Amino acid sequence: MRIHSLSAEQALASLNSSAAGLDASEAARRLAEYGANYLEEVERQHLLLRFAQEFTHFFAIILWIGAVLAFVAEHFDPGQGMARLGVAIVGVVIINGIFSFWQEYKAERAVEALRQLLPQKVKALRAGEIVGLLASELVPGDIVLLEEGDFVPADCRLTEVFGLRVNLSTVTGESLAKARTAESSSEESPLQARNVVLAGTSVVSGQGRGVVYATGMRTEFGRIAHLTQTAGETVSPLQREIARLSRIVAGLATGMGVLLFFAGQAMGLPAWENLLFAIGIIVANVPEGLLPTVTLSLAMATQRMARRNALVRHLPAVEALGSTTVICSDKTGTLTQNRMSVQRLWIGGAFMPRSDLPTRAHVLQEHRQLFINAALCHNLKAVEEAGRQALHGDPMEIALAEIGREIAGDLAAFSRIDEIPFDTDRKRMSVLAETPHGRMLYCKGALESVLTSCRFIHLDAGLAPLDPAARTRLLAAQDEMAGAGLRVLAFAHRAVDEAGSPGDEQDMILAGLIGLEDPPRAEVPDAIARCHAAGIRIIMVTGDHPRTGVAIARQIGLLRSEQPLVVDGEQLRLMSPTQLQLALDAPEILFARVAAEQKMRIVEALKKKGEIVAVTGDGVNDAPALKTADIGIAMGISGTDVAKEAADLILLDDNFASIVAAIEEGRAVFENIRKFLTYILSSNIPELVPYLAFVLFRIPLPLTIIQILAVDLGTDMLPALALGAEKPDPAVMQRPPRAPNERLLSWGLIARAYLFLGVLEAAAAMLAFFFVLDAAGWHYGQLLDRFDPVYLQATSACLATIVVMQVINVFLCRHPRRSLLACGFGGNGYLWLGIVAELAVIVLILYTPSGNWLFGTAAIGGTTWLLAIACAALMCVLEELRKLSIRQTRGA
Ligand code: ATP
Repeated sequence: MRIHSLSAEQALASLNSSAAGLDASEAARRLAEYGANYLEEVERQHLLLRFAQEFTHFFAIILWIGAVLAFVAEHFDPGQGMARLGVAIVGVVIINGIFSFWQEYKAERAVEALRQLLPQKVKALRAGEIVGLLASELVPGDIVLLEEGDFVPADCRLTEVFGLRVNLSTVTGESLAKARTAESSSEESPLQARNVVLAGTSVVSGQGRGVVYATGMRTEFGRIAHLTQTAGETVSPLQREIARLSRIVAGLATGMGVLLFFAGQAMGLPAWENLLFAIGIIVANVPEGLLPTVTLSLAMATQRMARRNALVRHLPAVEALGSTTVICSDKTGTLTQNRMSVQRLWIGGAFMPRSDLPTRAHVLQEHRQLFINAALCHNLKAVEEAGRQALHGDPMEIALAEIGREIAGDLAAFSRIDEIPFDTDRKRMSVLAETPHGRMLYCKGALESVLTSCRFIHLDAGLAPLDPAARTRLLAAQDEMAGAGLRVLAFAHRAVDEAGSPGDEQDMILAGLIGLEDPPRAEVPDAIARCHAAGIRIIMVTGDHPRTGVAIARQIGLLRSEQPLVVDGEQLRLMSPTQLQLALDAPEILFARVAAEQKMRIVEALKKKGEIVAVTGDGVNDAPALKTADIGIAMGISGTDVAKEAADLILLDDNFASIVAAIEEGRAVFENIRKFLTYILSSNIPELVPYLAFVLFRIPLPLTIIQILAVDLGTDMLPALALGAEKPDPAVMQRPPRAPNERLLSWGLIARAYLFLGVLEAAAAMLAFFFVLDAAGWHYGQLLDRFDPVYLQATSACLATIVVMQVINVFLCRHPRRSLLACGFGGNGYLWLGIVAELAVIVLILYTPSGNWLFGTAAIGGTTWLLAIACAALMCVLEELRKLSIRQTRGA
């Protein structure tokens, strides 16, 4: 029999389970038999295939052609060192391929590791007790508890349902929420059965219980997952810009190569040589390694963010974070601690502090209904913990339920029959209960919302009609509590007959108000100050009362002006998009009593104003706003699965301060990429100038092609990567956000790299070359054989000087303006590792026979090294002076 055509009891029996669920040993046995409940990932491209691709892309093919040409040249014109060039080019392709593969693999691993950080959790019933499990631990026969915002973890036959509606779009493509029941159904397919919820779909509202009948790949979703799983990685704008940049530079390099080919031809140099030189120039200047390096620095940033409790779900989010200009933040739990404690009550027409309750418990019996309400009307779950019943759920409800139990006493004779759960649009919830005095309906929520259902008020003098005067008193009482930053809940009740439903919210009796305190998080004021310093605007968008919102906002330093603009949900509803955009021009604005749907309007208006918007959310209804925003931020602890799925960033600690940390890291990545771009572009000039000098002044060639490759794809690589891993500089949060259209490669950066640092390096390299020649008695116009020891030493000096200059340059590139002394040499161990590797490579090239053979080098003496070091020191001084003058002009 199909499970959906059975009754709930039969369905349980058919799975050898019961309403109390499986016991632990049976669950363990089934886990071993049926396997873990997760979708096996469809094998992506085989690793070997992906490795092979590193050697077959466009640039690699150009290089292969170069290598073949070199070997062909050796064949026709032996003894000119062409074979060596061929070997070197092949070496370059291989090293470069391995390096790129390693970087991409590492980046992918980093992103994968993030996914593991936040496994899906579920509530299940085992041996009659509610337990928290990983979704992967579910087995057929388990009873799962579902509520609003949950992803259904496995295919389940429902056994108990309260207003459950599910969104099936992931499985059937239909986006309209569908109601679900526990009755048996006569449908053919489980896809249509109204008593089945399928893995991968989500609960839009209500609650329910169901027995798992299929897990992992045996679920309907598992079956279609094979068809639909794709590596749908999105490419970030930054990655796109880098790819574009690489192409432009490649085009330029190719142009230059062609130009040099013809220059060589005009000088009457052998055509082979010119061709290979052209290829060499192209190889040296094409930034093949740029994209993997950028991807890896983005991935490393995600790891640093995760360490600071911000989990990025897609790489592009890293840079959007870096350019965030506005954060729209919830209040409860994000800015505040979500540790609720009852502070004041308004009962019978007067205020009473919480501390008076124990002494007045007997008086309060008259108002017992309010406390029964607080004790019953909630969405909490009683979980067995260390031998006693603990309440799990919303801290506000826990605080209210505890105070309710304290005063109302034993409620064993009361039972809940039905409910309308809380939702942010209605801002109230209702519970229908069976009591010793008949059926009662209890409602609690925001005062404005509860008032719409009330006709009476319970005052000390007895029941009174809720006339305008009483309303005014109530609202004034709420204003007073809210003004002190308290969150105010109103309570109402009425008796109903046997046919009553939780929807009978009319003619109710308003029993009183309770004010709860939720202190701000300690880190938040500082985080807000940092945002202000960083030019980031923060807008509180709360469901709470405007006065509560304003009071909390003032406590945390979010509102500073006397007259901030406060817009409530009702006003927002009446505003046109244009009016909303204009309202957002106010220097300080706060949105209160906002429904989740309205968040989306605020986000849209801000985006229209050209802002890069980050928005927080945790409920199902927040998902559209999270998706619309540039950065959707979901809460890791209190957020629903649906919100997390819609978000780009998940806060593992629900803390606003973690958003600020993530923004800081996002900004740092952009700076880091600029740092390593400056670094690798600088060395292009000393690679080019020697050849120009050779062509224009007819001197021996100071730097050979193989030596250029040694720098670009050998010594420069690791230090560049280390610059990509720099920690955020404290000053990144003291600048306004980067303009969205600001280019990575600015003219300032190009000028600094090419026209300043690059020129200095080129001058030093040429100086070292002539220094060695001069010491050997060379005079202008004298030709040198390419195997002449003097010539070999001179080119080696040129190469070594470039490397020494780059060693210093790493430190100069750590900041475009700040002094080296202020930046210091510490804080990034990778830099030193990179430098050690760089020096090791150059020592191998200069001082080993195979290094000498392959790169056409010879050992150089101590004086040459000293000269190189002196040049590097001079560059350092000149760069310091340049930075100083920039700081002074900026300061002025
Ligand atoms: P924020 O949106 O900043 O987190 P919030 O938690 O107050 O603030 P909502 O959760 O949308 O926002 O709640 C809106 C209002 O609904 C609350 O101010 C409160 O009056 C009422 N409310 C919240 N939770 C419940 C609940 N569990 N039962 C009844 N009413 C509630």
